[in-house]
Amino acid sequence: MAVKWYPVIDYVACVECGTCSNFCPHGVYDKSKSPTPVVVNPDSCIDHCHGCQNRCSVGAISYVGDDAGSSAQSSCGCGCSCKATEESKKEVKIDYLYLDLKTCDRCVGTDQILEEVLTLLRPALELAGYKVELRKTEMTTAELAEKYRFISSPTIFVNGRDICGEVQENTCSCCGAISGTDTNCRTFSYNGSVYEVPPKEMLAEAVLREVFAPAQDSARTEYRLPENLRRFYDGKETKKNAGSSCC
Ligand code: SF4
Ligand code: SF4
Repeated sequence: MAVKWYPVIDYVACVECGTCSNFCPHGVYDKSKSPTPVVVNPDSCIDHCHGCQNRCSVGAISYVGDDAGSSAQSSCGCGCSCKATEESKKEVKIDYLYLDLKTCDRCVGTDQILEEVLTLLRPALELAGYKVELRKTEMTTAELAEKYRFISSPTIFVNGRDICGEVQENTCSCCGAISGTDTNCRTFSYNGSVYEVPPKEMLAEAVLREVFAPAQDSARTEYRLPENLRRFYDGKETKKNAGSSCC
């Protein structure tokens, strides 16, 4: 039985997206400070609710308290089912995480398709009262990748959820050239076909699904930087050092 339960923010990992403070319907966070998450009413937090943690894409939220039974009960037991506030329900936050937007065909291609899809969807979503926000972040270092729980390039999060349920990859010659090592990057499966750049229909469907029929939150899994990405960053560093020591 928990005697106390409230979120604790890891401000080193936090990227100040504002998702947690906008989401919590129990007044635990000071919304006036959003996007910086500031816990002002820890007593209002619901025992064993993981609502905000499940929405944090960088794993910056943990809880003070007895966590017995938490995996089975990942949202409020207060009767509200930890439903998002009207305000947060009307937000569509898209995070695009990638290794390279200069030479990598699939990162550049995915970026272009994402922009095209949002150009088409944004007016309709805004007409329906949604605020659409696209944030792009280059995963320049292994530390940054770990901070964002980056598992494969490129990755698209919609409201903190990876649009691909699983990681499928194949050899990426562009990122291999950047790092001087064998590097695998993401492929996208859609309607029985596999793509290196996702088709517009797939992205549009993924965004609309997260807006209108989001999946149930699942318990967070432990994160470790994939070996493939570790090799990429090590190779990039080696190439950089070799370049700087060249006569
Ligand atoms: S765990 Fe639930 S009640 Fe507590 S701050 Fe997060 S969303 Fe609010
Ligand atoms: S959801 Fe996570 S990254 Fe976003 S503001 Fe809250 S703690 Fe920070």
